[in-house]
Amino acid sequence: MKTIAVLGSTGSIGTQTLDVVDKEGDVRVHSLSAHSNIGLLEEQIRKYKPAIAAVTDEKKAAELKIAVADTNTRVLSGVEGAEECASAKEVNMAVTAIVGIAGLRPTIAAIKAGKDIALANKETLVTAGEIVMPLALEHGVNIVPVDSEHSAIFQSIADQGKFLRRILITASGGPFFGMSRDELSRKTRFDALKHPNWSMGAKITIDSATLVNKGLEIIEAQHLFGLGVDRIIPVVHRESIIHSMVEFCDGSVIGQMGVPDMRLPIAYALTYPGRRVPVSEPLDLVKIGKLTFFDIDNETFPAVNMAKKAAKIGGTMPAVLNGANEEAVAAFLNDGCGFLEIAELIAAAMEKHKAKQNPTIEDIAQADIEARQIVKERLEMRS
Ligand code: NDP
Ligand code: MG
Repeated sequence: MKTIAVLGSTGSIGTQTLDVVDKEGDVRVHSLSAHSNIGLLEEQIRKYKPAIAAVTDEKKAAELKIAVADTNTRVLSGVEGAEECASAKEVNMAVTAIVGIAGLRPTIAAIKAGKDIALANKETLVTAGEIVMPLALEHGVNIVPVDSEHSAIFQSIADQGKFLRRILITASGGPFFGMSRDELSRKTRFDALKHPNWSMGAKITIDSATLVNKGLEIIEAQHLFGLGVDRIIPVVHRESIIHSMVEFCDGSVIGQMGVPDMRLPIAYALTYPGRRVPVSEPLDLVKIGKLTFFDIDNETFPAVNMAKKAAKIGGTMPAVLNGANEEAVAAFLNDGCGFLEIAELIAAAMEKHKAKQNPTIEDIAQADIEARQIVKERLEMRS
């Protein structure tokens, strides 16, 4: 029996995790966390009867406390509340489905308390992989990836890590695949929110359209699998059926396939190292007919190269890439900047930042604040 904390339970990954819990049967939910969606969190509390629930927004936490006063769930607030959810003694795995760098502190709390991690929150490794991976090793914690590509890589490597030569990480190409910069300059948030294959939270959907998501995933893979970014090769694969591949030293390539359904990698993380019930539709390759592959268009979508550059500089630079992106995406979702400006704002923040090597968590938090400030100033300057 696994007892889990679902951090970010009201989001796309959080709700799909609970769907997997319904199917698996022998996974117990000990704690849930959300930021402000207390309506959905209350429904989840009544259904899953967790011992604790945390809401990071203090005012909403107070409202939820009153709403669920008739249940046995203890309601906590703030980041500390999410940390307590993650590290409660009954929990043996934390599913980190908070979006953005906000997921970092609760994930660290879970690792320090010795909980295995089902890692959806890629921003944790992007911003602080240099700290988080050694910390997991020190505490004997398994980090099982939930991101579909990394789950595929993890499953494909199996116990053959020492023979790994390259990772071929697939990318759907997003809704704007094949378009010119001129076309991209006119794209709105409504266009960018229409992902061809996956239904996800707003931030990652925009990241998929800019290809920042693939950049973040290359950094995530670098930390998870210990390979330099030049050996992690992105390949556009429009159908999202092969979720990624690995190439071994003999030239053999192994990949993992499945329908594009996040419940598959979520279930794998929850049941690792085993597998249990079917959680998605079977894959019908004849119906799909053909699988296609293309190079990334790095001229039109500069984000992958920017992420590789940040990874090579290391230290606080990936946190700057991430923080600037989070701020720019929030602005884009508010009609506060254009689609192509997102990458320009990230480049500007990276340009201004002097990376600090071997950073502490505080240095990373500071770099994140600095990057957001640069983006805000740029946006104010031109308005
Ligand atoms: P969503 O936006 O759908 O959900 C985010 C969750 O985090 C919600 O529960 C939200 O609470 C909570 N949250 C938001 N802001 C904060 C905050 N400041 N502090 C604490 N909690 C917060 O995101 P997704 O589920 O799409 O993504 C979650 C993570 O998983 C991301 O890191 C993403 O990159 C990764 N991922 C997602 C995939 C997907 O298919 N969606 C695929 C692969 C990776 P509330 O609802 O109350 O706002
Ligand atoms: Mg992914």
